Amino acid sequence: MLKLSEFWSARAHSEDFTLTRMGFMTVRLRLLTCLLMVGIPAWGLVDWLTLGEAQFGLLLKARAFCLLALSPLIPLSYLIHFRRERMKLALGYLMTVMMLFSLFCLASFGPDQPLQAGYSAFPYLLISLFAIFPVPLSLSLQLAACILLAMLGGNWLLLGQPLLGGATLDQVWLLCLFALASAWVQCGQLNMLLQLYRESTTDELTGMMNRRLLMKRLEQARARFLYQQQDFALLLLDLDRFKRINDTFGHLAGDAVLKEVAASLAEQLEPGMVLGRYGGEEFAVLLPRCEGAGQAREFAERLRLAVEARLIKSPTSEELLEVTVSIGVAMMQPSESVESLLNRADERLYQAKVAGRNCVVGPEAAAARVA
Ligand code: GH3
Ligand code: MG
Ligand code: MG
Repeated sequence: MLKLSEFWSARAHSEDFTLTRMGFMTVRLRLLTCLLMVGIPAWGLVDWLTLGEAQFGLLLKARAFCLLALSPLIPLSYLIHFRRERMKLALGYLMTVMMLFSLFCLASFGPDQPLQAGYSAFPYLLISLFAIFPVPLSLSLQLAACILLAMLGGNWLLLGQPLLGGATLDQVWLLCLFALASAWVQCGQLNMLLQLYRESTTDELTGMMNRRLLMKRLEQARARFLYQQQDFALLLLDLDRFKRINDTFGHLAGDAVLKEVAASLAEQLEPGMVLGRYGGEEFAVLLPRCEGAGQAREFAERLRLAVEARLIKSPTSEELLEVTVSIGVAMMQPSESVESLLNRADERLYQAKVAGRNCVVGPEAAAARVA
């Protein structure tokens, strides 16, 4: 279940989830824009059947303006690039164009001519359309407040409707109901998306990130390495003789060891470092902004000692289990791919196994054997 802060603001979401959500929303923004670009001219047919010629002509121009104003949203949506602020701007722009169109329509009716149902329902329709976006509550309320203000301002200035009156109260009440229903749908989508995201990126046993998310983080670190010259190191850790634990104490004990080792590693992490389960009994740690081989090696030693020092109670016997890790370390090199970096770290991990296990190899080739 989502925490309250995650419902309220996107600032509480992880960077990676925001990227996923923005990708999802960008597709929906394009779809909605296309739908409006078809629906708004099609609505002209109703005007042609129900309104006088002069007003029909006027509204046709408004529809053409609306179409013109909406069309840049399709190419511009490709520039959103998963950025939250750009998405907010795009939604704000869409809402502004639609509300300007609505106000122009109100002006064409004026205070003396009865407003057609479609035009009076326009703000409610707009709020309902925004329900397709999985936005947090704060943005949902901001959009609804802008629509409410534009609607009341338009009714007051263009239709002469008093601001304090029964009709206004009626409209505010109805719009609040629509806004609440829309926010409910939006939060429901946000919740579903976040749960799916968590399930697809979290390792069930240890609760840490899985290989899929780890690979994404590696690609992001590589991009920062290339464009911002931020060095980083990769540590591959493999439990030593883990099969023996499974064979001797059972799979349940093996699972308990994996969880405890994950906890030991997580305790050592500093802000910005990334830890994930790379495979069965293998973990990976990403050290961003690593200041050099020495620092990476020192940290790898710290992890090795933390695992070595932990005694793990077996759930299947009274015994306290001891476990050690071998670690391969590699620093990202210019023009290197993530696969090549992983390969180099894996080769060093292999060297650590050959050197007798419970040791760190790399970033330099020499192994530091621990007695
Ligand atoms: P080495 O020191 O050379 O790494 O030896 P090892 O025994 O650790 O390596 P090996 O690759 O032979 O065995 C890994 C074992 O890890 C085999 C597999 O059954 C076990 N394993 C993988 N995932 C899990 C898991 O989620 N739970 C448990 N209990 N065991 C697992
Ligand atoms: Mg292994
Ligand atoms: Mg192993």
